[in-house]
Amino acid sequence: MKKSVHLPSQTGNQPVRVLKYNILDNLLKVHIGKESDLAKLVEEKGLKRDFGYIAEDKEIIAPIAADSQIPFVDADKRINLPETFLSYVWCLSYSILVLYDFNHKRMIGRSADVNLNEVLLAEEVASYGISLVRSFSRWDVERLPNPELYDAEKEPFIELANGVFSHAMTFILSHELAHVALGDIDEMNRANMANVYVSAHDRLSEEFRADGFATKTMLQCTLDQQTFTNRGVGIIVGVMCLLLLQSGLSSKDHPDIDERIEMAMDALELDETNGLWLVGLAGIKLWDVHYKKNLAWPQCALTPKQAFQNILAAIRKRKAEQR
Ligand SMILES: [Zn+2]
Repeated sequence: MKKSVHLPSQTGNQPVRVLKYNILDNLLKVHIGKESDLAKLVEEKGLKRDFGYIAEDKEIIAPIAADSQIPFVDADKRINLPETFLSYVWCLSYSILVLYDFNHKRMIGRSADVNLNEVLLAEEVASYGISLVRSFSRWDVERLPNPELYDAEKEPFIELANGVFSHAMTFILSHELAHVALGDIDEMNRANMANVYVSAHDRLSEEFRADGFATKTMLQCTLDQQTFTNRGVGIIVGVMCLLLLQSGLSSKDHPDIDERIEMAMDALELDETNGLWLVGLAGIKLWDVHYKKNLAWPQCALTPKQAFQNILAAIRKRKAEQR
């Protein structure tokens, strides 16, 4: 028997509305006391205290850039969260988590513990999430995992996915806040290029700098192992969500896929056997499958790090062939 966790105060149209306040809570917690402390940004940089929640049932990438449903800080310096984008991030958080679990169990010889039905459902959730990039459709909440309506026995895993989602959103919003903290928005306002700030129009160096700023903020201060892992997963999933918005390996206004994911993994300074490499692999696998890239996945790797580097090499080979 499925039970809904939706409260009347949680406005919005899509199941992800139940996590609206988790996003802001986590963002505040991660930034407190740092260069990008939200209270400091409000006081010194003019960031608005409230945030916009855009509940429009629309695709993420619209033909007209200004209609796109991607989180952004507007010219008034207010954070705006479009609901469809949040649904997309939850779907990917959930699927990457399930695929990671699957790969991990296979690597340690516990394939028998894998519930293949769960893996298939996770792939379907990923397909649904990625389909939202180009066209909007309703979430089949009766059949597919979602954060609002589920069986009690699924709760522990849904909660885990909710945690990954909150950290992934913290990474994505920290990237946007970096544009406020580093003065990019002021510069844009001065240049009067547009009245809405959309990341897609960023300059490449600003993008790299904002990714670096977001990663550093999330990893700053000595973290216990569990917090480090949770935030690390959030960074990787957050980067993967940004990358999965596009099918190409390179773009003019954003850093290339391999460079962006490598920079995030480098910042984590993981040892050879850390399981977070497998989280990155799970994300690349989704990109490969859904955009039909048919990357050559090397079968033998001694460590998770090596497996990750092998696939990165395969991406670079493909990129070189396209030049
Ligand atoms: Zn940006």
